[in-house]
Amino acid sequence: MSHFDPTKLPALNPADPASLDDLLTEDEKMIRTSVRQMLDKSVEPYIAEWFERGEIPNIRELTKELGSLGLLGMHLEGYGCAGMTATEYGIACLELEATDSGLRSLVSVQGSLAMFAIWRWGSEEQKQQWLPGMAAGDYIGCFGLTEPDVGSDPGSMTTKARRDGDDWIIDGRKMWISNAPYSDVAVVWAMTEEGVRGFVVPTDTPGFSAPEIKHKMSLRASATGELVLDGVRLPASAMLPEARGLKGPLACLNEARYGIVWGRSALHVQASRLRVSTRSTACSSASRSVLSSSHSRNLLTCRSNTSRATCWPCTSGAARTPTSCARSRSASVSSTTFARRSRSVAPRARSSALTVSHSSTR
Ligand SMILES: Cc1cc2nc3c(=O)[nH]c(=O)nc-3n(C[C@H](O)[C@H](O)[C@H](O)COP(=O)(O)OP(=O)(O)OC[C@H]3O[C@@H](n4cnc5c(N)ncnc54)[C@H](O)[C@@H]3O)c2cc1C
Repeated sequence: MSHFDPTKLPALNPADPASLDDLLTEDEKMIRTSVRQMLDKSVEPYIAEWFERGEIPNIRELTKELGSLGLLGMHLEGYGCAGMTATEYGIACLELEATDSGLRSLVSVQGSLAMFAIWRWGSEEQKQQWLPGMAAGDYIGCFGLTEPDVGSDPGSMTTKARRDGDDWIIDGRKMWISNAPYSDVAVVWAMTEEGVRGFVVPTDTPGFSAPEIKHKMSLRASATGELVLDGVRLPASAMLPEARGLKGPLACLNEARYGIVWGRSALHVQASRLRVSTRSTACSSASRSVLSSSHSRNLLTCRSNTSRATCWPCTSGAARTPTSCARSRSASVSSTTFARRSRSVAPRARSSALTVSHSSTR
């Protein structure tokens, strides 16, 4: 009879406790590196401030940068989308979430909800009109399913679309809609005489507005709003022709959930970005404040340091001083050298994929 011998287990790599690296191909690792590099440059230095402010101030530029890397609608084929594999899509979501859940949410809602809805259920005309611009980040999209009194039970939605000649008139309200305040296009689900149908609504259509919901406790570096549809008149061509019933929106939610599952496993990436090595120092519990819930940024901020060095994870009970915070920043070098050693992935040199560049970034 064999006995479990814990001393025979392989050593735990704190930077990769799930041993994910062993399962990834070189291409997948390169995609991970390129996403990580972009986030380290354009997001990581600012995200704590965005979280505090409850906004992404330069959301349009950031969305374009995400688009230029092929991260918007990244798992979709054609129409300027990157056509990444399921694993590549997951790895990118993991990296995004490791930086901030709000950022992953921006990408998920754009690619897996708004773009996927058009890609899967839309007409060719709708795809041509919206998808290339959304993939590039020129257009921001949102997805309106939840209503103020109808969240978990979308089949009871009260937003209605009725025929008026060839046109559709939509009245109703959606709540908690990510990206809404900045969206150029909204995919809106409404009840019709024939059940739930989806509509592609340009947000400059008269009767449409998207007031922002402020003071969220989580996903703070993410724009969330209501959708108010007050007699919004749309041509017949605005309806998503292939989506009938709740299968339409729920299929989109499944696409997003796949990325969210990968994102939820981002802990090991956060560990690899140690700002504080457990050996060097850690905050005392009195000097740190948890800025987020499990649905948001897993960031501990050391209030004792006026420069607001971030420190994650904070596992030791040892007292922390500003000096030790500075020391902790140097402890992060080992994780960034990984990125420097790796080859970069060029911004979309071809429209269909994140393309491996052979230039060295060393
Ligand atoms: C930051 C943020 C961004 C969001 N972005 C979007 C978006 O882009 N698009 C969109 O359409 N929606 C979005 N949502 C809405 C989100 O999908 C809903 O919050 C969710 O569907 C739950 O609905 P609700 O908030 O009305 O909760 P409720 O439906 O009121 O549920 C409250 C609680 O009761 C539980 N519950 C409900 N019904 C049952 C039941 N029958 N049995 C047992 N337990 C039950 C739920 O699990 C939950 O824990 C967002 C929400 C947030 C907070």
